[in-house]
Amino acid sequence: MIDEYKHKGARKKLVEELAAKGITDKAVLNAMLKVPRHFFFNKTFYAHAYVDKAFPIDEGQTISQPYTVAYQTQILQVHKGEKVLEIGTGSGYQAAILLEMGVKIYSIERHEKLYKKAKLLLNKMGYQANLKCGDGTKGWPEMAPFDKIIVTAGAPIIPKALMTQLAIGGIMVIPVGNEASQIMICMIKKDEKTFEKIELKNFAFVPLIGEEGWEG
Ligand code: SAH
Repeated sequence: MIDEYKHKGARKKLVEELAAKGITDKAVLNAMLKVPRHFFFNKTFYAHAYVDKAFPIDEGQTISQPYTVAYQTQILQVHKGEKVLEIGTGSGYQAAILLEMGVKIYSIERHEKLYKKAKLLLNKMGYQANLKCGDGTKGWPEMAPFDKIIVTAGAPIIPKALMTQLAIGGIMVIPVGNEASQIMICMIKKDEKTFEKIELKNFAFVPLIGEEGWEG
């Protein structure tokens, strides 16, 4: 009980920090205020849960930095009931933020261990998430089109399958670059063949590995 109170206070401080760093979307900040990020950590590392930093999870992967999660989510401008495809479930934290905002989530993770762990945790937290283990660069054709697509691993190119599976009027956010640094790209689908491409800030993600990603 005392611990939960302590976590809540730390979470509030973190959200204030995100607002000070330029996150303005109230719906995003509210979701981040609600989702207990420490649930995605081993108990030994709880002290790291509300620090604005990425942190190692299993399989040499990371739970994204809170600022990065907020930044990508803000770009998506999600509305309740929308269908969102996430590539790179990882810990499941980003998915939980989107679920908290009322979207229908479809998330793909290539590591089976991470997929299983995230599935168990999100379920335990009471979320209805559609998760799949596989190569997300191919998207999830059976469930397309998606109103929004978020890629949470660094891509060498924007996978064609994801462009196809985005709904017209939809938004995709994806970090594209080399393995050390990527530029955040926002793609807005105007019609079947036309996209508006907006290049934003630099970030450093773990690599997107797959058919239209880096070689594993
Ligand atoms: N959104 C996650 C961030 C995880 S890091 C979170 O909130 O914790 C990125 C994840 O992308 C890693 O778990 C990695 O295994 C996964 N990944 C990399 N390439 C992938 C691919 N082609 N398909 C699905 N997942 C992929």
